Amino acid sequence: MVTLLVAEHRNGKLLDSTFEQVTAARKGQGPVHAVLLGQGIANLAPQLSAVGVQVHTVESPALQNETPGAYAKGIEGVAQQVGASVILFGHTTVGYDVAPRLAARHGWALATNVVRLEFAGGHVQAHRAAYGGRVHAEVELQGSPVLLTLQPGAFPAARDARPGGSVSAASVQVSDADTRQKVTGFVQPEATGVDIAQADVVIAVGRGLKDKENVKIADELAKALGGVVAGSRPIVDAGWLPRDRQVGVSGKTVKAKLYIALGISGQVQHISGMKGCEHIVAVNKDPNAPIFKVAHYGVTGDLFKFVPAFLKELQG
Ligand SMILES: Cc1cc2nc3c(=O)[nH]c(=O)nc-3n(C[C@H](O)[C@H](O)[C@H](O)COP(=O)(O)OP(=O)(O)OC[C@H]3O[C@@H](n4cnc5c(N)ncnc54)[C@H](O)[C@@H]3O)c2cc1C
Repeated sequence: MVTLLVAEHRNGKLLDSTFEQVTAARKGQGPVHAVLLGQGIANLAPQLSAVGVQVHTVESPALQNETPGAYAKGIEGVAQQVGASVILFGHTTVGYDVAPRLAARHGWALATNVVRLEFAGGHVQAHRAAYGGRVHAEVELQGSPVLLTLQPGAFPAARDARPGGSVSAASVQVSDADTRQKVTGFVQPEATGVDIAQADVVIAVGRGLKDKENVKIADELAKALGGVVAGSRPIVDAGWLPRDRQVGVSGKTVKAKLYIALGISGQVQHISGMKGCEHIVAVNKDPNAPIFKVAHYGVTGDLFKFVPAFLKELQG
């Protein structure tokens, strides 16, 4: 099967999701092509051809930033040129912006948030995460080409050098007339200089904290243990912690040696970002809180009593 992946890049770097798509594409046993869209992106192409991918660049000022109309035009043009039977995207803002547009426009089958992929008997079978990851749906996609968006991290990134790669400019024209959107700027998330993904000790707080003022309890514990403070999504949404401190499916994945969850219920979207930690301690006053299913040590009780007592022990 001829597979075409849609390469993604930001700030002059190819994203990991692109190399994860390469791994998935190799399962097809056929030629692996990539479409690389943008402006001034020629220097990125060799990194992808080095892993055995036939890269087709589409350069235009209209592709300076991703917009669904311009990207769709470039992708469908290259898909036609290479005779793609499978088109892969990351399940990223680009993937869920552009893939449904192409599927609807051409009547192509689409599976989103794919975590597993098989090419069997000329068909593509995919497992896709549904209901926030609670279940996996198995789907078989009909027709050609079929489109898939791949969950970030579901496939290992392919970085090994392979022969067969090439770089060429695709004869596809994309102009401002192909898009009705204009990107006027980017809002960078507030950088706090703390990377929770790299921390050995993470003190994570949830809605059980009750008030923004109480974040200082977690700060004190983090200070005593040489760790950093992170939080569940509602805490970040409420502005009690910066966006880069969120743990979970729509935040960061942490791999700490010690993870202390204070007043976090442990919904599936949170668990997916911390279940790989070495030692998980949960403090929650509800004995049935799902967090206890993944915790190695559980404290059923009030965090406002536990933390001061624990700090006293540490300081003593
Ligand atoms: C598409 C999508 C993506 C999402 N992504 C994320 C994500 O990346 N990360 C994330 O965290 N969530 C995410 N969520 C939200 C997730 O579903 C939950 O709503 C959220 O994780 C709950 O946060 P919480 O545990 O802080 O709050 P709650 O569920 O309200 O839990 C608060 C807990 O505190 C306990 N508690 C209360 N008082 C005390 C006390 N004094 N002492 C001890 N315990 C106490 C309660 O028993 C309760 O278990 C996402 C949801 C959706 C739909």
